Amino acid sequence: MGNYNGTVTCGHCYQQGHNKRSCPRATERAQRAYQQAKEAGSADLEYYARALAKRTGVNPETGEKRKRRDESYGRKCSYCREQGHSRRTCSSIKDDQRNYRRMAQVVRTDMLARMREHGFGVGSLLTLAGSEWNEEASEYQDVTSAYLVTKIKWEGIGPHNQGGDSCVKVISVKDPSNQPTMGMPEAVTGSADTRYSRTPELVGATPSEKINPPSAWTAGARAEENASIFEKGQTRDGYWFRTYGSPLLDRWGDHFESTE
Ligand SMILES: [Zn+2]
Ligand SMILES: [Zn+2]
Repeated sequence: MGNYNGTVTCGHCYQQGHNKRSCPRATERAQRAYQQAKEAGSADLEYYARALAKRTGVNPETGEKRKRRDESYGRKCSYCREQGHSRRTCSSIKDDQRNYRRMAQVVRTDMLARMREHGFGVGSLLTLAGSEWNEEASEYQDVTSAYLVTKIKWEGIGPHNQGGDSCVKVISVKDPSNQPTMGMPEAVTGSADTRYSRTPELVGATPSEKINPPSAWTAGARAEENASIFEKGQTRDGYWFRTYGSPLLDRWGDHFESTE
């Protein structure tokens, strides 16, 4: 059902030339419903009065005028909880996302420097201590397995994952069908904590000129797309921005140039 010829079709009465919001039949109906509720002394009178006010702009009970066309009036933004705009038009979320990319610039520049310093990237050799079931001894035994780094999940490294947890894809030297994901070696993450994945040891470096992130990665590009704090339904996380974001933003202000 198009209005390609410039004629709108009403979603209430399906006549052409007006839409549902300005439909005279829908307004008539709201008027009748309100009238009937008033005559019957209905407990829902206020509801019908407000429904009519939405169409005519004047509440018949209170005489109060309202802005009929402003749909966002009285609604709260699902991100910043302020009134008068929606998440889509929220300037706070845009500011936060820009700042988040700046924070990512700090985190990622640090990370790339340490990766190159230690020769950590695709081709690096890692070992990881673990345990393995030994059939003959019928018990778990400590083993150290060797892995080659096959991929760095660059996009996962940012303000919410400063240690690069679960960002290293590897292949087992002994069993190529075993290709787990792990965290960064401690030598590379420095003091950043790695809470979510096992930490391997770096035993064989890769040439630092082979450690190259995607373009604009160190500029923080698209960091906000991997941050759950901006996902639909998430309210602005003021605590995170104050506590963890601000220090990164301060460092950005001190040392980095704006790239946007
Ligand atoms: Zn209509
Ligand atoms: Zn907002």
